[in-house]
Amino acid sequence: MRLWLVFFLLAPGVFWAQPLQRCSFSHGQMGTVFRLVFYARDSLQAAVDAVDIFARVDTLNAVMSDYLPESELNRLCATAGSGKKIAVSKDLWRILALSKKYSRRSRGAFDVSIGPLTRLWRRARHLEELPDSSRIHAAAALVDYRKIKLYRWGRCVALQTTGMQLDLGGIAQGYAADICLHGLQRRGYRSVMVDAGGDIALGDAPPLSAGWQIALEGLPDTFFLKKCAITASGATLRYLEAPDGTRYSHIIDPRSGWGVTSPVVVVVKTRRAVAADAWATALSVTVGGGRRPRFGRVWLSVGNAQ
Ligand code: AMP
Ligand code: MG
Repeated sequence: MRLWLVFFLLAPGVFWAQPLQRCSFSHGQMGTVFRLVFYARDSLQAAVDAVDIFARVDTLNAVMSDYLPESELNRLCATAGSGKKIAVSKDLWRILALSKKYSRRSRGAFDVSIGPLTRLWRRARHLEELPDSSRIHAAAALVDYRKIKLYRWGRCVALQTTGMQLDLGGIAQGYAADICLHGLQRRGYRSVMVDAGGDIALGDAPPLSAGWQIALEGLPDTFFLKKCAITASGATLRYLEAPDGTRYSHIIDPRSGWGVTSPVVVVVKTRRAVAADAWATALSVTVGGGRRPRFGRVWLSVGNAQ
């Protein structure tokens, strides 16, 4: 009798371990949809954790958005040319330091001081009219990542050109995807997929499978991947079509000020989504800009770029 009692007391514990369930959550932010897919034993706890992660994404948007007039980024840009050093948040500091690193390594193909040009081209796409070359020239003169000065002591930034405008659109989603992945991993989830509008960060594979099946916009292929990041960029994804049929991409060559015209989609697979995001944008300029010959529709780069 006593033995039975012990069995009934222990039995729920033995059979309690819940199976892993696939949980999926989405949240609109940064002009796109963030999607978290991960495997959890407790779906209610998973929902609570997803809400936490999305709150962090909202905070990142309030720091990095160039659309919100009161974002930390825009408040910093308002001081451009004033000679002042401005103390910034850890996130803004980190993303600017990373951006400068990718600018140096890509020899200026990636440049977050591209803001005056992206504003000009955004307006042109809205009006469906090419901007005139004198305005492109004037905006391009304000673009130079070397004029973004970072002071480690006190985490300060000085923008040295009057009219300088930063645009983190080529890197912020990748940065956010990494933060979502690490946030979920810190909470104990292993099989995780984060999709920040095409900037994808992956943890372990789903249970009993070789990897996450990933399809990228603009590409016919699907990939099975785990523990890496992948993203696609390119002229074919968003563009302005001129009367002669030339398509000018939303990705701009900082040296000429013109949208990239080659119909190239660049795919980058790396360890971190922030690197994949920045390199995909940078390589879209490098392979698609200037007077280079046209390449095929798809250009694939798979590496461990940091
Ligand atoms: P992505 O989709 O990651 O390639 O980012 C494209 C966005 O990056 C554009 O919409 C602009 O906001 C920004 N951008 C465009 N050209 C550049 C460039 N040469 N360097 C850095 N950011 C850029
Ligand atoms: Mg990018």
